[in-house]
Amino acid sequence: MNNPNPKILVTGGAGYIGCHAVSALQKAGYEVLILDNLVYGHRYIAEEVLKAELIVGDTSDRPLLDQIFSTHNIAAVMHFAAYAYVGESVTNPAKYYRNNVVGTLTLLEAMVEANVNQFVFSSTCATYGEPNQVPIPESHPQNPINPYGMSKLMVEHILKDFDTAYNLKSVAFRYFNAAGADPEGKMGEDHNPETHLIPLILATALEQRDHISVFGSDYPTPDGTCIRDYIHVNDLADAHVLGLEYLRKGGETTAFNLGNGNGYSVKEVIETAKKVTQKPINVVISDRRAGDPPVLVGSSDRARNILGWQPQYADLEKILKHAWYWANR
Ligand code: UDP
Repeated sequence: MNNPNPKILVTGGAGYIGCHAVSALQKAGYEVLILDNLVYGHRYIAEEVLKAELIVGDTSDRPLLDQIFSTHNIAAVMHFAAYAYVGESVTNPAKYYRNNVVGTLTLLEAMVEANVNQFVFSSTCATYGEPNQVPIPESHPQNPINPYGMSKLMVEHILKDFDTAYNLKSVAFRYFNAAGADPEGKMGEDHNPETHLIPLILATALEQRDHISVFGSDYPTPDGTCIRDYIHVNDLADAHVLGLEYLRKGGETTAFNLGNGNGYSVKEVIETAKKVTQKPINVVISDRRAGDPPVLVGSSDRARNILGWQPQYADLEKILKHAWYWANR
């Protein structure tokens, strides 16, 4: 090892959630190395906004991983790099299993070889499938209803087996709906194509789109539209730093939900966006989207109790304000 300073390797650190985590790590005093293939990530975020060291490459590139682990002193890995379009995972499952499962397995094998044994993993509430209770606790059965959720669940299983076999310790965070943007306005959600509710609502307010389609108004919820638990991306980022510190203090392999425990319907999100933006937002009710459970709300008591996690922006209006600021950049 020719670099004495321990670094955190952040895969997908140029993407939406990864870049906010890099910023939180830097603020907590960690040195970060980003590995990102830039398929969905943004070079300027990594290099210009975060001023982080960026290696452009893939988690399935074993020779590259071996080179990274042998030339940098990597203390732990945070793994965000993944494909995350639920609909696409249904039509092109191989893409999801290859990248999200095989790519992660390659990364984990390289870690074992390099004796790096702390891993923080981006999992998802999509591993639960259709919930039979809300708020959903971590102990809820995991029966994903799409290949995206299944790919993340497979990795959760691999992580348990890698702990047993190789003593690799991990924290899997099951995110609910990541939303919002860095309050300083330097980073935010920038997907192409964009499929998420909040950026599409704000693009409608900005007249970049004609309308927002509400996917189903006949769900068994008070106003008939789906209810989700929107969690600020900076609160997710803070949890990752706490998860890393938990592992560094000798914590056991585990999984935590990350959500606010408050559900908002699609119509409530649109109404709050009208208030925040002070713009008219044209709404069209359309058909349900395949694979959408009516209600997804998480209990994050474990993360609060064990990690001491305290979401700072547990309020939809604040989440939308930050996203609106970013949308107007
Ligand atoms: N949604 C919608 N119109 C859109 C995009 C999303 O009505 O154009 C709904 C979607 O059916 C879900 C909620 O908004 O109930 C959040 O969807 P999103 O894609 O943002 O996140 P997901 O819940 O799929 O992770």
